[in-house]
Order: sequence, then structure tokens, then C-alpha cells
Amino acid sequence: MISNNSIQCSVNNCKHHAQDVNYCTLEKIKVGTHENNPTKMECTDCESFDLKSSCEC
Ligand code: SF4
Repeated sequence: MISNNSIQCSVNNCKHHAQDVNYCTLEKIKVGTHENNPTKMECTDCESFDLKSSCEC
């Protein structure tokens, strides 16, 4: 898969992760939040995440 060097990512359980390098392969992603009032990095989510089918996590 061709990695997008503009989107660094270490979530290799995601089917869009390049695997051999820590980049996403999508052309663009959507970032959102699961909080009403996000105040920390942990409040943010990649909403383009899609679980790898082979993932046993
Ligand atoms: S879609 Fe999101 S979580 Fe998945 S590889 Fe791309 S940036 Fe990472």
C-alpha cells in the first residue's frame, strides 16, 4: 500500500495503516471526538479507523 507521508499514524490495527511504516494510506482522514467538551489529546479520535479483519485485538 502507498503511504501518505502527510498522515503519520501508529495504529497498526487499522486496515488503512501502511504496516511497514507508521503512516496512513488514505488520501485524507477525519478526526473527531467522543466528548462533549474535549480538553485532552485522549479525547480525539480518528473517525476513519477501520479494524483490520485479521486483527485479534
Ligand atoms: S484511518 Fe486513522 S487510524 Fe487508520 S491508519 Fe489512517 S490515520 Fe491511522
